[in-house]
Amino acid sequence: MLSRLKLTAIRDQLDSLVDEAARSELTIREALALFCRRELARKDERRIEMGLGLARFPFVRDLTGFDFAAQPSLDKAQVREIATGRFIANGEAVLLLGPPGVGKTHLAVAIGREAIVAGYTVLFVPAPILVAQLAKAHGEARLEERLLQYAKPKLLIVDELGYLPFEPEAAHLFFQLVSRRYERGAMLVTSNRAVGEWGSVFGDPVVATAILDRLLHHSHVLTIRGDSYRLREKRRSGLLKAAVTPAPSAI
Ligand code: ADP
Ligand code: MG
Repeated sequence: MLSRLKLTAIRDQLDSLVDEAARSELTIREALALFCRRELARKDERRIEMGLGLARFPFVRDLTGFDFAAQPSLDKAQVREIATGRFIANGEAVLLLGPPGVGKTHLAVAIGREAIVAGYTVLFVPAPILVAQLAKAHGEARLEERLLQYAKPKLLIVDELGYLPFEPEAAHLFFQLVSRRYERGAMLVTSNRAVGEWGSVFGDPVVATAILDRLLHHSHVLTIRGDSYRLREKRRSGLLKAAVTPAPSAI
């Protein structure tokens, strides 16, 4: 019966659960609550595991693994507030800006992970792959399909916008995606370029303004102005001399 009801955690742990209930002298009502909690815990675990798989994160990172002391320019309270996922419920945008190596992707993944735990669907995609896929779909007259795919998740994370400049057509395709999600689905965008430089990223100031208009309308902007964490670690371990400093940041 437990199998048919798909209560697999209770089914698999039935003997130990019954023993536990007896040992703790639980009432029937308390025992039932215990059994349900176990089942829900297993279902949550599965859901989170599946969500993490579907999100296609490039690596496993979480907020507890982020060293805020290393990035004093970052407001920890603001990051924690964003990680609650309220911006997702509101369909808002988060921009994470800063030079390479300061933890933008780490934070994006960590926020995405929190979102999955909270029950949201998340998709992570590097910007160059996103635009390549949109351009390919456009060429094959299947743009609508792709746009739907990217419009579906509650949170779309677009990583590394600005590392490569867009082709003019790509900027337009990206605009279509942003307007499709605007006020409906949340976006988190990371970039090593300041917002003022996005015109040159998109290769077209008009499209850049249209994109920024939508992204910035309901947005939270986090700017990290620190040193690369990777270089810092290397410097600490003595691999790099203290005199070696990272290239001047774009921001
Ligand atoms: P970015 O996307 O800004 O270029 P990443 O997020 O890829 O940087 O960070 C580079 C590496 O350094 C990753 O492995 C990341 O986990 C780690 N890292 C960066 N900043 C921190 C930090 N403040 N605390 C812990 N790890 C960090
Ligand atoms: Mg990155």
